[in-house]
Amino acid sequence: MGKLRDKFGREINYLRISVTDRCNLRCVYCMPKEGIMHKPHQEILSFEQIYKLVKVAAGLGIEKVRITGGEPLVRKDLPLLIEQLKTIGGLKEIALTTNGINLAEYAFILRKSGLDRINVSLDSLNADKFQEITRGGSLKVVLRGIDSALDAGFSFLKINTVLLKGFNSDEILSFAGLTKDRPINVRFIEYMPTDFNYFSYNELFFSAQEAKALCCGLGELKPLDSAHGATARIFRLEGFSGSLGFISAVSQPFCSSCNKLRLTSDGRIRNCLHSSRTLNLKALLDRNAQEEELGQLIKEAVFLKPRAHNLAERSGLAHASLDSESENFSMCQIGG
Ligand code: SAM
Ligand code: SF4
Repeated sequence: MGKLRDKFGREINYLRISVTDRCNLRCVYCMPKEGIMHKPHQEILSFEQIYKLVKVAAGLGIEKVRITGGEPLVRKDLPLLIEQLKTIGGLKEIALTTNGINLAEYAFILRKSGLDRINVSLDSLNADKFQEITRGGSLKVVLRGIDSALDAGFSFLKINTVLLKGFNSDEILSFAGLTKDRPINVRFIEYMPTDFNYFSYNELFFSAQEAKALCCGLGELKPLDSAHGATARIFRLEGFSGSLGFISAVSQPFCSSCNKLRLTSDGRIRNCLHSSRTLNLKALLDRNAQEEELGQLIKEAVFLKPRAHNLAERSGLAHASLDSESENFSMCQIGG
């Protein structure tokens, strides 16, 4: 199997696939409360189409796939897709990012389908605050989902927490405490500017560096090795079972080691989270294009991958850099 490299020499081996633009929550920084225009069913990639694309992508060098959304567990029969993807040679890992609402119901079925890893998004450990940020979600249900995933054998489950100053910055040590006795990796993620300016961005921004400094109050943070292309800097607190990750996507971007492509639920390939330029693979699939033609478009997306995004400049946190781009976006539409 070959390797996919972009024009800056980065190896691209990771594909994030959004399987739906729908969600059973309405996180304030990700989706508006109402009036969301969902794509009609016929515009969303079928499982057959996703399988075909992943097979081509794996042949080109994609080794890891992450299923995301919207909320992937609202897509009917998702474990069937995972079972199908598992048969593709060359794929080393299939992961899922979920809000955890349907996780208790699905954890064992997902394990049986061959899913390798799960990330659960969780922004507060306070039931009222959780309900506020998700506009109605139940913390209890998500915590039950996390327990089920651990029981089902998903070791080193990741919890993704978006850092929001004044909202959950006072909970950082409680989140870190989740890693004391259980093999959980809590990852603190910097809030990125999106289409939904529910919060005043700069007032809410809290850096991963600040979160790390607070965690040092619990003991010595021992650095752990990160995989190639990893977005998080990972540490373990002395005597703790799990680990802590800090993702500084805005303040210290990791574009130079970015290894990702994204596939939107309507079949557009996106080579950077922050660029609105997409290439339409669905149009090729709908006319039953040959694998070679699909492969050409994937290679073109890789070739056109920008060197860097400029989120920091847009949010007023840094100075401009060359050959970088960013557009407003919403994670639920692209697949976070
Ligand atoms: N619904 C699933 C979930 O919430 O895990 C998967 C899709 S969601 C778009 C993926 C991730 O993107 C979540 O962890 C969410 O917190 C994150 N996200 C959404 N908007 C964000 C933003 N503005 N800044 C940072 N992370 C964001
Ligand atoms: Fe839904 Fe995930 Fe967006 Fe929250 S972050 S609204 S759970 S897609």
